[in-house]
Amino acid sequence: MMKQIVFATNNAHKLGELRRMLAGRFKVVGLADIGCHDDIPEDADSFEGNALAKARWVLDRYGFDCIADDSGLEVDALGGAPGIHSARFAGAGHDDAANNALLLEKLDGVDNRSARFRTAIALVRKDCEPMFFHGSVEGRIIDAPRGSAGFGYDPLFVPDGWSKTFGEADAGEKDAVSHRGRAVRELCRYLFRQS
Ligand code: IMP
Repeated sequence: MMKQIVFATNNAHKLGELRRMLAGRFKVVGLADIGCHDDIPEDADSFEGNALAKARWVLDRYGFDCIADDSGLEVDALGGAPGIHSARFAGAGHDDAANNALLLEKLDGVDNRSARFRTAIALVRKDCEPMFFHGSVEGRIIDAPRGSAGFGYDPLFVPDGWSKTFGEADAGEKDAVSHRGRAVRELCRYLFRQS
């Protein structure tokens, strides 16, 4: 029987991505599939810490081996902000437009626009040490949003070597270079070696 792994997310895009990449090798299920509707706390001070907290929550309370991820945008001129606060930069909730507007306000007149997206994935399994997988993509923040694809800060982020934003890229183009794409591929390589 195919091995099952829980991905501690309710994000259909992330679930679909991992299901595609692990197809035929692992059955990937989400939080709703295991009856977990908890508001899992994410109050660590690093991407790794938050990913680990989410994955451990599932293993400890539901007994399933689990993968969890946490990601965000680090802007050099802002000392790495918004970082782990990326989702709620402009306040509680997940208002992408407000977050983007605040980012542009803080970078108004600032020449150094360098930034990166980072992802950490934690894998926790019964009786094993947790493992981490990472991905990042370097780029720069432009002056005004462009494109409506993707989510979050995508319309403001131009990866190094590109002239368009992630908001102007299709999903395949973005996955090929993105922080999450890279971390997920690293995870998959590890799981394939194990299975
Ligand atoms: P999550 O941990 O992947 O849910 O990401 C947390 C927050 O970081 C999101 O709400 C976005 O604001 C930002 N973020 C993470 N990944 C991306 C991305 O690929 N594009 C744009 N914004 C992102």
